[in-house]
Amino acid sequence: MIDSFENAPELIRVEDLHKSFGGLNVLNGITETIHKGEVVSLIGPSGSGKSTFLRCLNRLEEPTSGHIWFDGVDIADKSVNIDKHRQKMGMVFQHFNIFPHMSVIDNITLAPVLLGKMSKDEAVVKAESLLARVGLSDKRDNKPSRLSGGQKQRLAIARAIIKDAPIYIFDDSFSALDFLTEKNLRTALNRRIAGRTQIVVTQRITSAMGADCIFVMDGGCLVDSGTHNELLARCRIYREIYASQTGGDLQ
Ligand code: ADP
Ligand code: MG
Repeated sequence: MIDSFENAPELIRVEDLHKSFGGLNVLNGITETIHKGEVVSLIGPSGSGKSTFLRCLNRLEEPTSGHIWFDGVDIADKSVNIDKHRQKMGMVFQHFNIFPHMSVIDNITLAPVLLGKMSKDEAVVKAESLLARVGLSDKRDNKPSRLSGGQKQRLAIARAIIKDAPIYIFDDSFSALDFLTEKNLRTALNRRIAGRTQIVVTQRITSAMGADCIFVMDGGCLVDSGTHNELLARCRIYREIYASQTGGDLQ
């Protein structure tokens, strides 16, 4: 639980992070630390800023102000070579960003081969093993348009995991899967990325519960963070989300 990470080295420290789009303030001063090896769940109402927060972490959105210390470097600083830092993050986007004109296997092997991280043969072997892990071996040569929403999510996950990154970020990446499929998939993934830091956005309280630390977002603020039991005891929004998904039973 979180106590066991208090003395773990910091991986990311966010300080007073703000983001606005025109006059719309979407992130209103987020300050939080994520430790090496920690699994963090991020939960909160739709529109509360979860995706924007994650996108700021690898500067797909430029923060309006604040700091994001990643391994001791402030990546919110515009002079930082962000591509170097993006290599350390495997990110599964909410809207997949899958290449529609490429087969499933080519979607997975493209980046590592282009970036010179692996030979094509090596990438294909790894991709095939990942496809087996996410249950998509039979879709290897299909175009993504032939996949269901849940299968596209699994493809996006396999594509992020082929990257050997110290941190993986999942933006609602399991939402199109039923709970049991999600659970099995996360167990299979965790065998591959055990010990790595993960930030997992989820709408499902049952998915968030097992995290080392749960961040609760509301209205562009990180209103609380802690374990499931800590948040149930003290965080109104967390209790509301929990109650709405468990039929009002707060036990
Ligand atoms: P969540 O992931 O929690 O649902 P988002 O981070 O996607 O929330 O969005 C938070 C708010 O920011 C929403 O009101 C959304 O409309 C707004 N927003 C997100 N991206 C943009 C953008 N590129 N331009 C303008 N507004 C945006
Ligand atoms: Mg989102």
